Amino acid sequence: VVEISGLHKSFGSLQVLKGVDLQVRRGQVVCVIGPSGSGKSTLLRCVNLLEEPSSGSVVVNGVELTDPDCDIDAARVRIGMVFQSFNLFAHLSVLENLTVAQRKVLRRSKEQAEEVARRNLARVGLTDKEHSMPAQLSGGQQQRAAIARALSMDPEVMLFDEPTSALDPELVGDVLGVMRQLAEEGMTMLVVTHEMQFAREVADQVVFMDGGGIIEQGDPADVIGAPSHERTRTFLSRVL
Ligand code: ATP
Ligand code: MG
Repeated sequence: VVEISGLHKSFGSLQVLKGVDLQVRRGQVVCVIGPSGSGKSTLLRCVNLLEEPSSGSVVVNGVELTDPDCDIDAARVRIGMVFQSFNLFAHLSVLENLTVAQRKVLRRSKEQAEEVARRNLARVGLTDKEHSMPAQLSGGQQQRAAIARALSMDPEVMLFDEPTSALDPELVGDVLGVMRQLAEEGMTMLVVTHEMQFAREVADQVVFMDGGGIIEQGDPADVIGAPSHERTRTFLSRVL
């Protein structure tokens, strides 16, 4: 579903991605781990062209986003993204947060959009919160609402950038639980995370990044359990 080839990204003279090749197949969960500043967020942001790659190609669902003729807005509709900060619209209720893009972008009727929204609120365990405002929710509830909002656009792939790292520890489990359930339902997911246990149990592939490149990737039991590179071992010894 996602094919990243020879991806480079520089900010001015700072080379942040130095040739990344990565594939996420349909139904696969790929977790990206690595130290701060290694380029994980930049990689994710290049996948939906929130950042424009300096070179290389990104293909999502057979559409080459890096093709200058590509209609990025159309291609982005089916790429769900969930950030560390929840990014809900503060002045809209939970239900409105979930329906606004469905109506504007997918041109669904109010009734249709609300039906889809309610289905996805149920999926993340927030059925009773549709009339709440974001500020009335806990961080974990806000993040689950953000996930439900992304799901309401019928994404072909979901990108998660450290979705639990802004949460109080006791709220992390609920969000990871929702992500685990999505993975079990067969959602294609590319997840930047510091949650090693989640990566170990849920990921099909774990990718360790350092210094703008992939140092090693493979089965979680190998990359996390028996890393073959010194840099991976050093990183894991700090986070585990
Ligand atoms: P973290 O674990 O802290 O989130 P990360 O692996 O996600 O780190 P990135 O956010 O991708 O790292 O950043 C990689 C490097 O790129 C950093 O040195 C950062 O300062 C730089 N960088 C990221 N975005 C920009 C930008 N818009 N302009 C200039 N430099 C940037
Ligand atoms: Mg980051």
